[in-house]
Amino acid sequence: MAFELPELGYSYDALAPNIDAKTMEIHHSKHHNGYTNKLNAAIEGTPLADKSIEDILTSLDMTNGAVRNNGGGYYNHCLYWEVINPNDRGRLSGALLDAINNAFGSKEDFEKQFAAAAGTRFGSGWAWLCVHDGGKLEICSTPNQDNPLMPGVGCGGTPILGIDVWEHAYYLNYQNKRPDYVKAFMSIINWNVVEKKYEALV
Ligand code: MN
Repeated sequence: MAFELPELGYSYDALAPNIDAKTMEIHHSKHHNGYTNKLNAAIEGTPLADKSIEDILTSLDMTNGAVRNNGGGYYNHCLYWEVINPNDRGRLSGALLDAINNAFGSKEDFEKQFAAAAGTRFGSGWAWLCVHDGGKLEICSTPNQDNPLMPGVGCGGTPILGIDVWEHAYYLNYQNKRPDYVKAFMSIINWNVVEKKYEALV
């Protein structure tokens, strides 16, 4: 089964002005579509073709650059569209709020540390909120299209929130002002989605 570019479930202009429609359109229909097609080409006719994307990433041969870059790109963007879905966005609450308070001190401290991880990632990459076995939360970041599910990236657990800090995610609207994009992203997180992901893991 080939992987498919997911539908967003909302329009390209639904996140404006925080993320503009043109950025969303190019990011989804060009960048994510490209990762999807290249992943499919890289696994076609190999034993990976029958696996889930999670299984592909967790058992990845990190020297397989095509699957590393495009499998990461496929998975990472699927998560990104989900966690900024503007429908029924909710508020940070319940068990996830408790876990964030325990791990980072407060929601505000979490936001500062997450924004710092996103802001200090040199070049292209991602910042993550991950859940480890037992429910412990961690903030970390990875370069390029690496992902915490991959072995040995120095960032583990299962990601439940991810921000893309490649310039293609923000440059049209924010140019070099990555911190402004990160701040805007933090204001459009769909906490209902993130909380459901957390609750499924603990
Ligand atoms: Mn991207």
